[in-house]
Amino acid sequence: MRAIRRFTVRTVLPEPLAPLGELALNLRWSWHTPTRDLFASLDPRKWEAARHEPARMLGLLTPEELQVLAEDAALVRRVRAAAEELHGYLTSDRWYQRQQDVPASIAYFSPEFGIAAALPQYSGGLGILAGDHLKSASDLGVPVVGVGLFYKTGYFKQSLSRDGWQQETYPVLDPDGLPLSLLREEDGAPAVVTVGLPGGRTLRAHVWRAQVGRVPLLLLDSDIPGNDERARTVTDRLYGGSKEHRLQQEMLLGIGGVRALRLFSRLTGAPEPEVFHSNEGHAGFLGLERIREHVEAGLEFDEALEAVRAGTVFTTHTPVPAGIDRFGRDQIETYFGGDNGVDGVPVGKVLALGAEDFDGGDPSVFNMAVMGLRLAQRANGVSRLHGVVSRDMFEGLFPGFDATETPISSITNGVHAPTWVDDRVVALLAEQGGVVGDGSDKGAVDWSAVERVPDEALWALRRTLREQLVQEARRRLRRSWLRRGASPAELGWVDDALDPDVLTIGFARRVPTYKRLTLMLRDPERLKALLTHPTRPVQLLIAGKSHPADEAGKRLIQQVIRFADQHDVRHRIAFLPNYDIAMAQSLYPGCDVWLNNPLRPLEACGTSGMKAALNGGLNLSILDGWWDEWFDGENGWAIPTADGVDDPDHRDDLEAAALYDLVETSVAARFYDRDEAGLPRRWLQMVRHTLATLGPKVLADRMVADYVGELYAPAAVASRELDGTPDHAGARELAAWKQRVLQGWHAVRVDHVESGDVADSPQVGDPLRVDAYVSLGGLDPDDVDVQLVHGRVNDADSLTDVRFEPLAHAEAYEGGRHRFSATLELRRTGPFGYTVRVLPRHDALSSVAELGLVANAGS
Ligand SMILES: *Cc1c(COP(=O)(O)O)cnc(C)c1O
Repeated sequence: MRAIRRFTVRTVLPEPLAPLGELALNLRWSWHTPTRDLFASLDPRKWEAARHEPARMLGLLTPEELQVLAEDAALVRRVRAAAEELHGYLTSDRWYQRQQDVPASIAYFSPEFGIAAALPQYSGGLGILAGDHLKSASDLGVPVVGVGLFYKTGYFKQSLSRDGWQQETYPVLDPDGLPLSLLREEDGAPAVVTVGLPGGRTLRAHVWRAQVGRVPLLLLDSDIPGNDERARTVTDRLYGGSKEHRLQQEMLLGIGGVRALRLFSRLTGAPEPEVFHSNEGHAGFLGLERIREHVEAGLEFDEALEAVRAGTVFTTHTPVPAGIDRFGRDQIETYFGGDNGVDGVPVGKVLALGAEDFDGGDPSVFNMAVMGLRLAQRANGVSRLHGVVSRDMFEGLFPGFDATETPISSITNGVHAPTWVDDRVVALLAEQGGVVGDGSDKGAVDWSAVERVPDEALWALRRTLREQLVQEARRRLRRSWLRRGASPAELGWVDDALDPDVLTIGFARRVPTYKRLTLMLRDPERLKALLTHPTRPVQLLIAGKSHPADEAGKRLIQQVIRFADQHDVRHRIAFLPNYDIAMAQSLYPGCDVWLNNPLRPLEACGTSGMKAALNGGLNLSILDGWWDEWFDGENGWAIPTADGVDDPDHRDDLEAAALYDLVETSVAARFYDRDEAGLPRRWLQMVRHTLATLGPKVLADRMVADYVGELYAPAAVASRELDGTPDHAGARELAAWKQRVLQGWHAVRVDHVESGDVADSPQVGDPLRVDAYVSLGGLDPDDVDVQLVHGRVNDADSLTDVRFEPLAHAEAYEGGRHRFSATLELRRTGPFGYTVRVLPRHDALSSVAELGLVANAGS
């Protein structure tokens, strides 16, 4: 029989065990082994049944069992000590408390959060990154509040049909059974956020609060009684449904998210955020809601825009155009105009923010990334290379500027070590004094301690981790085959599938085309030969989900499975269904090599390779994303790319061949190169080097500290300048100034440039005097910067390696004409060239390209 309704009855804990409730509710347990050990010790069997989730574990214990536990004095002492430890973690001063001029609170918006397997609110890298961001913020004491949606069925679970076709199931999550609590009004009623919809409808949501260490995470849930049937399904699943469904989700996330923050502050006394960070474009409507708030407080739209921009940070995550959210302009007109319009926030202005009004743009669409850039004074990509790619990609928004000046910086992603580093790696470093404290705070690891770990111990560790993965992979393989309809009698081979002494290569990721899941299958015979090599075999573990609507992705998965099902290779290659955090945590540590072969430069950063590296795995990757930045020749291998080969098939052939060659002649050769003690010394040297040098770099702690220093703190300062007084004087002044400059700019030009005589054969040290005659129309000399732009010139007379020198105002003439001058000392040899340009100048601008205005000499 099917239940017509379901809910979860929460346990009432006996008083001596009451602290277990808080320990289960605070997701810090997901990266704190001692807390998990405590729950496991309550009943190891039920801990397995509870899939290592404390809240579920408590639900499985009967009142009688709890009573027995409550009478165990030693246990009660441990529970109390654990609660005190958590309390200390939550209240002590940490890194952030030693920083100056930092924001009181930062709101971090993301469409997905991957925190623990118990809370499946993520699909892949973007969500895991958001989860790691919150965890590191907690560890560093950064006052972040996360904002997202609560998806009733999360992302799908993947299984396989007999013939290897991806099957999706959507298990319903019951928030009452999860480590969540409902945000309530003082009278106990659930707090409600509302967002207007066209046709006079209202979208309502409750707000679930997850506690991620010190960081609250607010998740909006539209499946509540006050909503009509359609509104109830807005948060039904992650990345499902139509464009319109998606638009409603994003309105709830952005607009509803800001309203949830206001509620949260009112009800808990939490400080109001000074900085709003949009992780990818999906939450971009948060800027519109904040503009609406300012308009309601009496500002004009353009003034409100300045006030909001100063405190907004936007991170772009994809160089793949298909990865960017676009809506039809007509949809935006319906949802932000007509009967759902807002006084003072005209839909025309909204449309302008997301318009692709640049070369190559599509006039019929509304682009969320473009709006993100226009609503945020600070923006970044997620690796150095992705920064370059993003500046090129959005160059069109800043005509007249070189791509290098597109105001998008980069902060390379990182991963949360306490979540992703196996306890045994930490234990080994601790033996060498490389861990501060009791080792439970894995963030406090001195990675250089690995230099002191003997080869024997390092190799034994790698063997243990590989063996553990092989056992886990066999369990998963058996389960998968049973679901595919095999009978247990057919599955004897699974017990011997994979080998704990064979070089193990891992490859797991979502399967959009650019990640090239099947590159390794380019030459199946060649791959077979590598897998079944008599003395230097390789084994491959593969995992990944395809978006349910992506048939091409499912075909790729099926291709892999058909290959892996063959009897002569199935002991050396396996596809493991349902890649998620739980699988990832055993996969990364157990693999000797982590393979990544995206189509360069489409992988913005990639983080799985970082997690492998932190466990002593070596990366074998295309030089893309983070690997382009940190591959150093000793920490793994770079798969040569055929950049510039236009035919994609030919390019795949070339890169696959390079991959096979590398695996055979370098990777396997080194792994199996053993000395008389049976140790692969040179391999171990690479493992040690990887841990010692990448360890400190690939951390989310480093990433979050970079965000604080480079983006959050400057955004808070800018926001205080513009938005920090009750009359918002700074924002009003800046908006007025921008309007004056925009209106007057048509008259600005460089009339003519004179340089003093340069000697016939100029040499280093000679002075170069430059006088620029400039028309400013009605603008003042103070409104502009006049710059001498100089550098090397190439054969096409383009400047490269450019530097900028200010020209000083020297003389004013009538008719708005001025002379600006400077004398430059020639310091570089070789071909030299220069030009002059005029830019708007205001202290509150964060980049020269911010207004998209420039007058270049000669144009
Ligand atoms: C780390 C991680 C990802 C992202 O890895 P990429 O290298 O960015 O593809 C995806 N899914 C899971 C479960 C992860 O742990």
